Amino acid sequence: MGLKYSSKINKIRTFALSLVFVGFGIMYLGIFFKEIVWLMSIFMILGLLSVVLSTLIYFWIGMLSTKTIQVVCPNCNKPTKILGRVDACMHCNEPLTLDKDLEGKEFDENYNSKQYQKEQQEQQ
Ligand SMILES: [Zn+2]
Repeated sequence: MGLKYSSKINKIRTFALSLVFVGFGIMYLGIFFKEIVWLMSIFMILGLLSVVLSTLIYFWIGMLSTKTIQVVCPNCNKPTKILGRVDACMHCNEPLTLDKDLEGKEFDENYNSKQYQKEQQEQQ
């Protein structure tokens, strides 16, 4: 089985972290334009926005974490968090599900989409 999936919370965290670096990168670029005040200001504001956005995403992860269900991963025996119907273990990326109907099925992130669930119900 190809375990190319990673936990959603980890993915969002990685995104938020990269946003911080992008933000600081943009602000750093602004230093090269310190002769041109308006251009430097734009770089500084854009960089600051990225950092602020990533902070907001971190808060959002915090909110999401309260909605996750904590389980012990059957593969690595570490506690992990599940978000949505299917998710991957945060430690070993083992696909996990809370839905008995999906047990043993191919891991598919589509199971989390509302549209997909609607289509499934219409077929039944
Ligand atoms: Zn695991």
